[in-house]
Amino acid sequence: MTEDRIAAPGTAETAWAGWLPQQDWPAWTPDPAWTRVAVCAAHPDDEVLGAGGVMALLAAAGVHLHLVAATDGEGSHPGSTVLTPAGLAAARVAETDAALAELGVRAPATRLGLPDSGLADCEDELTDRLTAVVTGCDAVLAPWTGDAHPDHEAVGRAAVAAGAALGVPVWQYPVWTWHWAAPDDPRVPWHTAHRVDLPPDVRAAKRAAVARFVTQVAPLGPADADRAVLSPDVLAHFDRDREVLLR
Ligand SMILES: [Zn+2]
Repeated sequence: MTEDRIAAPGTAETAWAGWLPQQDWPAWTPDPAWTRVAVCAAHPDDEVLGAGGVMALLAAAGVHLHLVAATDGEGSHPGSTVLTPAGLAAARVAETDAALAELGVRAPATRLGLPDSGLADCEDELTDRLTAVVTGCDAVLAPWTGDAHPDHEAVGRAAVAAGAALGVPVWQYPVWTWHWAAPDDPRVPWHTAHRVDLPPDVRAAKRAAVARFVTQVAPLGPADADRAVLSPDVLAHFDRDREVLLR
């Protein structure tokens, strides 16, 4: 099952670091005509982990970004002894605001308030509401449809459906893929990959932005239910000098 791929031990960043520079993928460049791009996320932090550098580059180029947050991430710590689901959601929304500020991104957010860990069960509603927000945008960023987290995949599928209906290109960012996949993994459509080189200042801003997700990168408390969701091994995948987008 997909969840097992996320729970299982993952691929070390050192393996990716040796492989990624050998790939002759085209460089991703935004169309100069773009003025408005929608950035879709299943949970607060997806967009920054997978495409924070892209967002910073687009914002610096004067493109207006609009965040579409499917959930507020209330499900990251079931059984927490420290935060209620509502408290966790409030914290994660605030963390997103702080992270986007680190990236120099001012993105009005549409928060759909759909259930964390339940997006595949309300995919029609997700698609309809996402389509409404994407209308009028020149491009869409969304989690990859094969990312192995059911919520990520649902948002990816909804974005692809919205893009197809509206004739808007959808670029998909992997998140958990970097954990469960391996170099040359046949489950990943590498032939569609584009690389996004991050200048040192953008990489540093992304590092600062990721650190803002305190509820995810650090334990909430000593109990097992309050452990950090994103381990240092996972976080290492998001401290690179590049991001990768799939079509
Ligand atoms: Zn997520």
